[in-house]
Amino acid sequence: METNSLCIVSGNAYERGRQRGGLLKAKIAAKIDRTLGHLMSQCPEALIRSTAEAFVKTIGSDYPKILEGLRGIADGAGIEFERFYTAALGRPAATFLNPISAGSSRPSEECSCFARPQSGDRSGILLAKNADLASVGDPIASDLTALRVEPNDGYRFLCYTGFPEWPGGTEGINEHGLAMVGSGVSTSDVPSDWTDETRVGVPLHILQSEILRTCRTIDEALVHIRRSPRGFLGRDLLLADRTGAWAKCEVSFDHLEVERGGGCPYLIGTSHYQSERMAPLSPTRSQYPSSYLRMERLAAMLSDASGDLELEDVRSILADHRHGPSNESICRHSDVSNTLGSVCFEDAPPQMHVLFGRPCETRPVTFDMDSTGEAV
Ligand SMILES: [Zn+2]
Repeated sequence: METNSLCIVSGNAYERGRQRGGLLKAKIAAKIDRTLGHLMSQCPEALIRSTAEAFVKTIGSDYPKILEGLRGIADGAGIEFERFYTAALGRPAATFLNPISAGSSRPSEECSCFARPQSGDRSGILLAKNADLASVGDPIASDLTALRVEPNDGYRFLCYTGFPEWPGGTEGINEHGLAMVGSGVSTSDVPSDWTDETRVGVPLHILQSEILRTCRTIDEALVHIRRSPRGFLGRDLLLADRTGAWAKCEVSFDHLEVERGGGCPYLIGTSHYQSERMAPLSPTRSQYPSSYLRMERLAAMLSDASGDLELEDVRSILADHRHGPSNESICRHSDVSNTLGSVCFEDAPPQMHVLFGRPCETRPVTFDMDSTGEAV
């Protein structure tokens, strides 16, 4: 299954993983090859392996069902498990994930997202994001995948990801209306050594599928998110639930700040932290002007919007080319980073609108809890 349609996986964690591995076999094999090649060019193989093993032990101890899911994906894709997890979980060994802490001037290559309450006839909180990345080893447009996960031990959810090799998705909405999108943040809050299994934590990207499977509300999700340390990715995470609650979480290895949406006209995440406590842990304006320009442009467009945002309004915001098209525009076109695709979530009932390409060039496809797709 390599088309831009919906993958449907069901059953227990291992079965879901195995089905995913089978459906996305070519994408996953290419991703594992690409990632391993890039990691090996950056650091010693022994370090990559010991880093990955620390994550395997931590995930197996804290969230054993996630580890079962990873085993299933490897088996379904026909990839030997050690090779699979070395690529899927060995990434922090390479400094490219932490350009700020590594002292590099290379900017990170992350996403833009926003949350906004509908204010006309529609109800609930709308979440949307552009998925931006471009470097070797990181997602490319053909990695983008839309899934519906139907666990026999939890809630059903729709999700979207550029990481076919990890369980669940990096953005999603479940049958109870809990939804999340996020953007990566390069942060200095990372340990110097990733090989200590007692200190690596579970990466938030991977944890999100467990949150969508088991939580109905933001407060339930925060029980998982508050658990530190938190893997290897800094993130601006936007959440909404059916009670009308919405929030932005600034997340790093050992720090967390939660801003509730009540009273705000919108919340925005790009590639830096805004809170007083966490801002010093992320790139400054001079280090990464794109992140600040994208946040200001999204704020200006969302301030100008009135009433409900229709899907075409969302696509138009995500396709904005002010300051570009370039690395500085919302829809990014550059050698540094590119917008690969987009996603938008609405509840009542849960819907996922996906663009499998740049929002300036692609039309959205809508999936819901009843959409047909490639099931096994
Ligand atoms: Zn564009």
